[in-house]
Parts: sequence; C-alpha cells; structure tokens
Amino acid sequence: MRLQNQIALVTGASSGIGVGVAKALAANGATVVINYRSHADEAAAVLADITAAGGQAIVYQADVSDEAQVEKMFADLIAQFGTLHILVNNAGIQQDAAFVDMTLAQWNQVLAVNLTSQFLCSRAAVREFLRRGPQPAISRATGKIICMSSVHEEIPWGGHVNYATSKGGIKLFMESLAQELAPQKIRVVNIGPGAIQTPINRSAWATPEALAALLKLIPYNRIGQPEDIGNLAAWLASDEADYITGTTIFADGGMTLYPGFATGG
Ligand code: NAD
Repeated sequence: MRLQNQIALVTGASSGIGVGVAKALAANGATVVINYRSHADEAAAVLADITAAGGQAIVYQADVSDEAQVEKMFADLIAQFGTLHILVNNAGIQQDAAFVDMTLAQWNQVLAVNLTSQFLCSRAAVREFLRRGPQPAISRATGKIICMSSVHEEIPWGGHVNYATSKGGIKLFMESLAQELAPQKIRVVNIGPGAIQTPINRSAWATPEALAALLKLIPYNRIGQPEDIGNLAAWLASDEADYITGTTIFADGGMTLYPGFATGG
C-alpha cells in the first residue's frame, strides 16, 4: 500500500493500459479518478473491478484535449478530494496514414490528444501541487507526473508520422518539465511501452500471423499486458522511485534493442 492517502488521476482509463494503471494504483492504496472520454460503460466496469478488489475510485468524463473540460475536471476533483498527488497522462490515439495522404485533421487530432492533453493536464496538476505544497507524511515528492510515451519516442515509425511526432514531443516535454520543476520536488517521468495488447493495436496481435510478425520485434518473445505497465506506474509514483525524474523507463521486452541486429542486421 505504498500509495496510501494519495489521489491519482489516470486519463483515458476506460480501456487498455489506462485500466492496468488505474487498477495498480488503486491496489497500492491510491484513490483513483478514472477519466474517460466516451465509454461510460467501460469506465463503470473498471470502477466496479477496483471497488470489488477493495480499492477506491470514481469515474470522470472529460475530453483531455479540451482546455475548458480539463480545467473543470481538475476543479471538480480538487473540490471533492482536496488535492491531487499523482497524474498519469495516458490518453492517446492513432490516426494512421501514408505521409502523402495524411490530412491536417489526422495530424491535428493526434497532436491534440497525445501531446496537448499532456500539457493541459500537467499544467493543471502542477498548479495544484504548488498551491498545496509538500506533504512529506504522504509522499517525499510534492507531486508526481507520469507521461505515457512509447518506444516511438525513440524508434521512427513510417506510416505513423503524426503519432511518432507526438511521442517524440512528449520526450522533451517531460525532460524540460522535470528540469524546471525538480527544485519544487515535482517528479516527471515517461513510461515507454513497447507492444502492449490493447485495442489501439488490435491489428498487430489479432491473428496468429500478425502476432508472429510482431514477436520478431520483441526479443523477450511475448506481447506486453496492461499489468506490466500498471505495476511500473505504481512503482514510479511511489517513494521507492523518489530519486527518479526526467527520464524514460522503457517496458518493451527489449524492442528498443534493435533485435534485427542480433542476427547480423
Ligand atoms: P487504448 O485505445 O485502449 O487507450 C487509449 C484511451 O485513451 C482510450 O480509452 C480512449 O478512449 C482514451 N482517449 C482517447 N482520446 C481521449 C480524449 N480526448 N480524452 C480522454 N480520453 C481519451 O490504447 P492503449 O494502448 O491503452 O493506449 C494508452 C496509451 O499508451 C496511449 O498514449 C498510447 O499511445 C500508449 N502506448 C500504447 C502502446 C501499445 O502497444 N498498446 C505502446 C506504446 C504506447
């Protein structure tokens, strides 16, 4: 229960990795705000699972790429819980296209959800961390921000230029924010998942042929699960990781090891 008495917000937590993160934070004692955009039924199911396991959570609908909705969400959750200790910027989308066919709408939507939402939520969280100030009995850090990045903050991804650009942006967003806020004891860290089995990449694992091709990219030879990322997020948010800020932790079964070179490249 290393996150006891802490309030955590997880964006995009009605499916995939966000569910794994919300459940892991709750299992470690945090009270979790399950943000979702459009799937109220799925968010309610996550809430039911957390409650059944003895955890505490609420659901909150908001589009995290919309400034007014983000501001209202933070005002409401601070009114309800008094403050926030942990933000997990998880919401993200893909809108894939060959570069010559990519529309401005596809570009703008991916940047808005994957990158601008992280700016909006982090700014609101930092304002609250600074207003509240340190609570050393609850956590050594005044606040913790975990940004869901990707191996594609590092590995280029043709056919997904908008997505890779958003994740590359999150890398320097996180590093710059961590540098600026470390003196205030606010930690900012990226998680870089590899291939995790969720709805966002269903086509990469839904058939045996697709899964076999995917596993060629993963030296550890298994696809990741939301729990793999949830467990990492819970640890990164805890005081056990208090000296970690301004870096990306990859959880990718070795995908960033460029496995093609294992057999001569
Ligand atoms: P997912 O599609 O299951 O989850 C994304 C969630 O974000 C969904 O619940 C969706 O409703 C929500 N969302 C989208 N737009 C939103 C908005 N405007 N406001 C609020 N919520 C919104 O996919 P996932 O794999 O769980 O993705 C979670 C994060 O992990 C994303 O940032 C993704 O880029 C990242 N990621 C995933 C993988 C992977 O292999 N699955 C790998 C690397 C990074």
